[in-house]
Amino acid sequence: MEKLIELDKKHFIHPTSSIQQQQENGAKIIVDKGEGIYITDVNGNVYIDAMSSLWNVNVGHGREELAEAAAEQMKKLAFSSTFSTFSHKPAIKLAEKIASIAPEGLNAVFFTSGGSESNDTAIKLVRHYWRIQDKPERRKIIALRRGYHGVAAASTSATGIPEFWNMAGNMMTDFHHANTPYENGTDKAIASLRQVIEAEGAETIAAFIAEPVQGAGGVLIPPVNYFKEVRKVCDEYGILLIADEVITGFGRTGTMFGVENWGVRPDLLSFAKGVSSGYVPLGGVIVSDEIYNILKEKSKGTLFHGYTYSGHPTAAAVALKNIEIIEREGLVDNARKMGDELLKGFGRIKEELDIIGDVRAIGLLGAIELVEDPKTNKRFSPDLQVSAKVIEALHNRGVICRAVTYEGTDIICFAPPLIMNLSQVDSLIERVYGAIKEIR
Ligand code: PLP
Repeated sequence: MEKLIELDKKHFIHPTSSIQQQQENGAKIIVDKGEGIYITDVNGNVYIDAMSSLWNVNVGHGREELAEAAAEQMKKLAFSSTFSTFSHKPAIKLAEKIASIAPEGLNAVFFTSGGSESNDTAIKLVRHYWRIQDKPERRKIIALRRGYHGVAAASTSATGIPEFWNMAGNMMTDFHHANTPYENGTDKAIASLRQVIEAEGAETIAAFIAEPVQGAGGVLIPPVNYFKEVRKVCDEYGILLIADEVITGFGRTGTMFGVENWGVRPDLLSFAKGVSSGYVPLGGVIVSDEIYNILKEKSKGTLFHGYTYSGHPTAAAVALKNIEIIEREGLVDNARKMGDELLKGFGRIKEELDIIGDVRAIGLLGAIELVEDPKTNKRFSPDLQVSAKVIEALHNRGVICRAVTYEGTDIICFAPPLIMNLSQVDSLIERVYGAIKEIR
């Protein structure tokens, strides 16, 4: 372990991590293997992976079927291009499969290697969509504060967490942010969206992008009517709606896609993570028939956008098998049922401990907010490092979770694999109770 920590410090720049902290403290948990909802570190400690690693290992760890699907495809054709006039069976079949489970009217898929690329693709596609219709001035993108859309150029700009912009300065121009419906409620959030549209001029706006449930911002579940109102506003001003389903897609919220909870149809839907349960990198964007028809009719010559790994055959083969598992094992239903149990468990903890504010879950995507005073929702002083202490106490009890401390919040997030059963939910709740009680 010591040797690995030294090598990690010397050679490995971790993503979205403090380089100085890494140098001071070294890697704390070096994960060695995974099985079901559990991961095991190199010292043999076993943890419930209550975040599905990065909100992505939806079918759980250690699925031999997925390893076999990858091996089979690699032996046959590990990689081949899909540029220009080339294609291959796994990408064609996966595109067809995704179209068959996507919200109605979304039937054409552009593949990427992950969520950031998917959102950059969606944003470039909507700008292109307007350009080929002689409306190049429609290029602005509106997103939500506390939204997270990734770290490529456009997706960093769309992200509504300023720390991500500050790292390298402004990335792309013409991005604007409206207030999240969480805490503000639908009316105020819609007023904020309208205000941005009016201030910028509707005729300059290409699209509004939002997560059906804001994940990295702290699992912020919108009021039930929010997206219906968003859809109305978008239609009123002729603005396209992009649903960022990188976390919410493929069963996470108890429906195949998050927008199904809100009864709206987006014009574009970006996905990644759960499409392959993280076994291989894969993402993409599904576009509506209307958009695809315009592209077919008016996008002349080469569409100068594509990644080497767009439609990677091995990734596609694994994703096909992954979706088969999700369907065969009824994991979408299970996520909904176990999500209800998780939320009940959060409710029990809240009754017993007097430092818990809002608790929430939709499917297996949930959060507990820790506050100094639940009556007033007064937050703890950041100096107290409450989240960090709870995360540490959870580690000691064999649970991996993630805290969001944006704007002084102490939000403990949960996104366990969709295969959780009732006794595993109970065990998770018991450990969470113990950890919060310990720091109380
Ligand atoms: N969009 C959302 C909603 C996400 O949660 C993430 C990652 O957490 C991304 C986009 C970026 O995806 P990736 O890290 O695969 O580039």
